[in-house]
Amino acid sequence: MRYHNITKDDMLNGDGLRVVLWVAGCNHCCKECQNPITWDPDGGLLFDESAKQEIFEQLEKPYISGITFSGGDPMHPVNRADVRDLMSEIREKYPTKTIWMYTGDSWEDICDLPVMQYVDVVVDGEFHVEEKDVKLLWKGSKNQRVIDVKKTLASDHRRVPVLHCGDYA
Ligand code: SF4
Repeated sequence: MRYHNITKDDMLNGDGLRVVLWVAGCNHCCKECQNPITWDPDGGLLFDESAKQEIFEQLEKPYISGITFSGGDPMHPVNRADVRDLMSEIREKYPTKTIWMYTGDSWEDICDLPVMQYVDVVVDGEFHVEEKDVKLLWKGSKNQRVIDVKKTLASDHRRVPVLHCGDYA
């Protein structure tokens, strides 16, 4: 996996103060994407042991609520296995921290992936500039959904997302 940045004390990509991993690779090509530099899966830097330790140092801090995977797209085919492994490790080492993920994929297409067992919240869907609204919390356009993954997977209809309380249209 490759990545572009690890940002710290982030308040814009999930509940609380978070560490955010911006991975490389996205094939959604949304019109007016704010991060086209992240589309190339060969761009950025190799996600190596020191990058992982940089994240773990942040997660050690009691005031950090958790980690958000963004990009790029963590669910790009080149990223899926490494994202799953990293989430698994984080879940084991830091069970009280929350894991959020932004993806251009729709929930219905990813809800059966094993990686979802580690995720607390998914913000799904491509960015539609025609539905852009800067007042939206945690998402850029109205079509996207802020999904409570744990509640959704525990329900009888996992394809029907239960929205996180912060989601409003
Ligand atoms: S999914 Fe996100 S990173 Fe990918 S093109 Fe759309 S807005 Fe950009």
